[in-house]
Amino acid sequence: MLRSYPKAKRIKEIRNCFPSLAYSELVYLDNAASSQTVDTSIKAVSDYHYNYRANVHRGDFKISGIATDIYDKARKEVAGLINCEDWEVAFTAGTTHSMNMLADWIPLETPVIITELEHHSNILPWMRQGRTALNGLLVVVPANDKGSIDIDMWEIACKSNPGAVASFLTQSNLTGIELPWKDMCRIAKESDCTTVIDACQSIGHKEIDLQLNNIDYMAFSGHKMYASTGTGVLFSRGGFNEKESYLGGGTVSHVDFDHYVCVAGPGRVEAGTQNISGVHAIGAAAKWIKEVTYKDIQECEAEFFNMLQEKGLFAIEEMKLIGDIGPRSVYTFTFDDLHPSDVAGLLDFDNICVRTGHMCAYPASNKYSGGKGVLRISSAPYNDEHDCVMLVEGLWKAIKKLSKIK
Ligand code: PMP
Repeated sequence: MLRSYPKAKRIKEIRNCFPSLAYSELVYLDNAASSQTVDTSIKAVSDYHYNYRANVHRGDFKISGIATDIYDKARKEVAGLINCEDWEVAFTAGTTHSMNMLADWIPLETPVIITELEHHSNILPWMRQGRTALNGLLVVVPANDKGSIDIDMWEIACKSNPGAVASFLTQSNLTGIELPWKDMCRIAKESDCTTVIDACQSIGHKEIDLQLNNIDYMAFSGHKMYASTGTGVLFSRGGFNEKESYLGGGTVSHVDFDHYVCVAGPGRVEAGTQNISGVHAIGAAAKWIKEVTYKDIQECEAEFFNMLQEKGLFAIEEMKLIGDIGPRSVYTFTFDDLHPSDVAGLLDFDNICVRTGHMCAYPASNKYSGGKGVLRISSAPYNDEHDCVMLVEGLWKAIKKLSKIK
């Protein structure tokens, strides 16, 4: 029997904005990997393909003008969401692309401070350039037993490497714990570090105000904020005017065989024909988030936590939560005896989607799971009591079954 929760109506309203869930029994709890797509983003994609399928910033005809206006408006919507100037926002193929792009702008001899919790996309671009822990150019601040980092350790790393790049995520995609990222930013700046923020796990859930935080670069992906896959954003404080990345169509105002002149603004790092419908979708999603508000998103997710707690998720003995019990959008568990993939496989029989493995964060996963991998449950503001009941009952059933086989 489902009971009534104070935020149930708001959760329902939000769920109704997601066609893939509104009329389906799917229990989708892999939002940290990819959220579902909001209807306004889906409409933005189909409108583009049905009505004004043309290249942007190039055509002299009406439909190209419409596609261009919506593309440019998407930049303004995104800038409004994170509170920056639109010329500080470049569209990319996602966080991975953004991080690789900006790594190219950092001198090779500059040390980079990261945390042990980073996603591979904030480890490998630096390593590819020759930085390792061993040669001292990759400074790794260890994760603690609570799934976060100790701020003292962070401070020591920054003070020992003044002028370094400090690159870190706001919320771990492995543990789900929000790092003390505002303090981390402040401390990094006290040591003249360049701050790079991976906001991938926050952008769909929690506000990041670029005017209140001293962030030099920030990356996030469209598919974690209810928009299309293969799209993303790179914020660069002060814009892109000294920057170059791939060069090609759209990036230059003059070319001869001895010189080229790059255009001003973010267009200079958006070479070639972009994922135009994907950018339109990001714009629509940013607008949707602003209308729904981060406050409501947070409240709905806190309610989902209440449901999970009441239904007994955190009381299942076989599953050990990484970090303290508390409201967040990601809950990650390790198992002593069972294999997480076996549990997830049984959940899938009831259309319950959770994620297992290393979450593209091998160092952190190995630290907490001893190489076995974890089981991650990640929510969004549309997850409701039905999802919660199905999940907790499914877990009980799966664990009982697997324990018998053992
Ligand atoms: N950083 C974090 C924290 C992530 O969760 C992810 C996606 N799992 C990424 C970076 C990479 O994002 P994308 O695959 O969209 O490039």
